[in-house]
Order: sequence, then C-alpha cells, then structure tokens
Amino acid sequence: SLRPSLSLPPIHQPLSTSEYVLSLLLNSSPPATAGKDVESVTYLVDASSGDSLTYGELLRKVRSLAASLKERFTSGDVAFILSPASLNVPVLYLALMSIGVVLSPANPIGSELEVSHQVEVSKPVIAFATSQTVNKLPPGSFPLGVVLMDSPEFLSWLTKPESENSLINPVRVNQTDPAAILFSSGTTGRVKGVLLTHRNIIASTAVSHQRSLIDPVDYDRVGLFSLPLFHVFGFGMMIRAISLGEKLVLLQRFELEAMMKAVEKYKVTGMPVSPPLIVALVKSELTRKYDLSSLRSLGCGGAPLGKDIAERFKKKFPGVDIVQGYGLTESSGPAAATFGPEETVRYGSVGRISENIEAKIVDPSTGEALPPGKNGELWLRGPVIMKGYVENEKATAETLDQEGWLKTGDLCYIDSEGFLYIVDRLKELIKYKAYQVPPVELEQILQSNPDVVDAAVVPFPDEDAGEIPMAFIVRKPGSNLNESQVIDFVAKQVAPYKKVRRVAFINAIPKNPAGKILRRELTKVAEIIGSSR
Ligand code: AMP
Repeated sequence: SLRPSLSLPPIHQPLSTSEYVLSLLLNSSPPATAGKDVESVTYLVDASSGDSLTYGELLRKVRSLAASLKERFTSGDVAFILSPASLNVPVLYLALMSIGVVLSPANPIGSELEVSHQVEVSKPVIAFATSQTVNKLPPGSFPLGVVLMDSPEFLSWLTKPESENSLINPVRVNQTDPAAILFSSGTTGRVKGVLLTHRNIIASTAVSHQRSLIDPVDYDRVGLFSLPLFHVFGFGMMIRAISLGEKLVLLQRFELEAMMKAVEKYKVTGMPVSPPLIVALVKSELTRKYDLSSLRSLGCGGAPLGKDIAERFKKKFPGVDIVQGYGLTESSGPAAATFGPEETVRYGSVGRISENIEAKIVDPSTGEALPPGKNGELWLRGPVIMKGYVENEKATAETLDQEGWLKTGDLCYIDSEGFLYIVDRLKELIKYKAYQVPPVELEQILQSNPDVVDAAVVPFPDEDAGEIPMAFIVRKPGSNLNESQVIDFVAKQVAPYKKVRRVAFINAIPKNPAGKILRRELTKVAEIIGSSR
C-alpha cells in the first residue's frame, strides 16, 4: 500500500540535510513556527543544566561552527561523536552536515571495546567528545585530533562574530552524498555502519514534517527527548522537531522521575518513547505525584508494544494517544506509523506504510510476494532506504537486493486495509528496552572465557525491558563457572544495556550441519522458561 506521494526537492538540487531542515523551519508554508518569532518564542532546553537556546541562536551557532570548521575538512570526511545529549549536539550535527562532513554518533555509555569497534567501522578523521567520554576513545585514531565539546576552544567556534560567518550552505553538498553513519547490527553479526545519505534523511524528514502540518493541533507542541540522539529514532525525531520549530526539551538520559518532573515543569505535550517507558508509566505509582495533564501524545517505536499494555495505558491516561511507529536504522527511521485518531487505537498494528515507501511481504525461503493477511518477511523500498553498510559489501548484498529492496528481518503481515502488523523477528537481534544488543558480540566475549567451551545468546522475554539477553553456556569439563561469574565477565566489557542477565548451562549448543547456531530452538527454550515463571 502506497500513501499519496510527497513533494521532495528535486534530487539533483544540491542540498544538505541542514539546509533542508532549517529552510523548513524558516520558510515552509504554512510556516512551521506559525508566525512566531524564532528569536523569542520557540527554543531548545537542556533539562539537566537548564540552559536554553532560541531557534535564532541555534541558527547563529550552526553558522558560526560551520564557518569555524569548514577549512579543516574535505567533503566526505567522517566525524565520530561521543557525547551525552546537550544543546551542542544538534548544533554540531547541523553544522557538520552543512559542510559535507559525515556524522558518526555513538553511544556515550558504550564500553571502550564497543567504541573502538565503531571507530574501526566508520574510519573518522576527527572525534568530538566531552571530558566525560574522551577516555573511551582509542588513542591515536584520529588524524585531525579530538575536540572537547566542553572546551573554551569549541565554545569560541560557536560564537564567532556574525560578520565572519558565511551563509548556511558554505560548501556544496549533494543530496546523494553521505550524511551519517549510524550503527546497527542488521540481520546478523556484529555492529555495522549504516550509511545514510542526505537524500535519505531529507525524505524521512519530509514525511514526518508534512504529517505534522496536515495534523494541526490546538496547543503549542512541547517535546521531551529522553531518547538517545545517536540512535535513528532520537536523531530523526530531533530533526523533525527542529524542522517544525517545536519547543524541544532534552534530558541527558532516561530516568522515570526526572522525566515526569520535566513533563510537569515544561508542560510537555508529546514525547518519543520506546515501549518500556509505556510499561513503566502504566506500573508506576509516581505518576500521581506529578502533574502530567499537559501530555497529549506519545510517539512509540523501536520495539513491539503489547496490545494489553497499550490498553492499560489508555485506561490510566485517557487523554494521551499512543502514536505507534515501526522502522529501522536501515530505513532512516519510521517506515510505518499510525496517523490520526482512528488509527492510533488500532493497538497491535504499527500503522500503514509511509508515503514514499513501497512494501511487500515475502516468503523468506522462496522470495515470492505473499497476499494480504499472510505472514512473511517485510521488504521495503524507497528514498529512505540506506545506501548500504560501510565497507561491507557482503552484508550489504545480503540485506539490499538488486532491485533496491531492503530485507528487514522482521516477520510481518499487512491486512487488507494496509495496516502493518509485526509478528516476530527473524533476525538475530535482541532488543533490550529498544536498544540493539547483537548476540554475536556477546557470544564472542563469552567464548573468550577460558572456562567456556561454547556459548549462544538469545532474547529472553521480559515485561519491563521487552527482552533481556540470555546466555546458553557449555562449560569446560570440570569447571564450576556459575551464573553470576558469567554475568560479571560480560558486564565488564560492554555497555550496561548489553549485559547478559540470565544464564543456563547446557551440554551442547544446537547447530545446523554448517555450524550455524539454531537460535530458534534456543529462543523457544527461553520462551518456555520465561512463560513458566
Ligand atoms: P533499530 O535499527 O535499532 O531501529 O531496530 C530496528 C528493529 O527494531 C526492527 O527491524 C524491528 O525488529 C524492531 N522494531 C522497531 N520498531 C518496532 C515496532 N514498532 N514494533 C516491533 N518491532 C519494532
């Protein structure tokens, strides 16, 4: 099902994501800021520090930073970014993209091991970090050095006198040029770099921007972001909010009570969230302590949201809609979403396929397209689909076919009205609170333990987190390695959300004749253990 096509700028027109987003902010018709003064009314707020910026100040900082940096780079250079959310992050993203530098933002709570793998994958010439995160960067890996975003030098680049700043597009950037490398493990294996072009991000922004304009609201939108800005969901939602001139409140990291305080304080009307937050809001008693009455809608995506939880949420918060969305890093964000009051109550469905995207459900063994109502793998095609995995032709060829179809690795069906339902995940990926946990990464760490003969990691169902990583371990004969030792061994080497949280010892890992782990069998065992608790 294809929604009406959208107007996109002609593909041959040179245009960076930054120019596109800022032109929507300033010139769209009707103007995104609805006639409000970008200097005074609409702004970005850092809830942790209380700092804020008007959109006018954002524009000046972006221009100033772009002007300060442009001489250092050649188009296509990659900048690695390791920073918690702050007002400098959107400024840096927009400035770099406007001068043709490719962003590669990573999780600031990642381990050194994870960070150096990501650096190896994206091959940056420079890193932007903070004094908090800089120690995680592999030394000597950045030809143009490391810039501290909380240093006086960086601050001076943001505040050059106006006369020295060139216009917003100081460097010619083509839409087909690379804009960002975001990380995803895709359908199999370790973390890879998903290369998105300016065209990809422009096409994705166009959909969300246009939808927000056709769906005018009778209140001023205030968005609260506790989602990470290095992941496609937070990244895309932030770009969308700027294109609309929404008031945007940033929280450094998610913490339930801090989030509720911020909702009350800033009279937040909407938040992009992942399902575990909806679960937490349903279960928490703390919700009574705060005035959350300003909330009108939550945009939920990143992992499956149970119908039961959605209904319980609606009972507890009748005035708040849950707008569901489904997407991947490889599709630059949302590929389907519910839209309007009628669709948002179809709990269980993630809505219809977005404008500009073609979808088909395919029998994964034959590659044949299936009719409505039948389960198969979802394939997607359109201007939002990634260019490929950076320097990984094999993984790219396995994921993108000759005709440009992206194989999502998700088992889905589409009903006769075009609504998409996500049934299961065919790929290996585990989603802990919507964060990606690639099992292969944990298996490699476990296999490096001298007491471990073999190991496999699969998702274990968990109400609060969605899924937790569970390890099946074959111990060395005579070893008395126990569950907590296994958990500690992994925890030391990975970001907290990637920890193994459950362990079972078995005699052999089930594998096919080619030696591939039969994950389905282990997942079934995990599900049986999970449901018998
Ligand atoms: P990521 O690249 O981290 O955004 O992960 C993409 C994957 O997350 C998808 O391929 C799905 O497996 C899963 N996912 C994202 N959104 C949803 C959703 N609304 N319902 C179910 N699964 C989802």
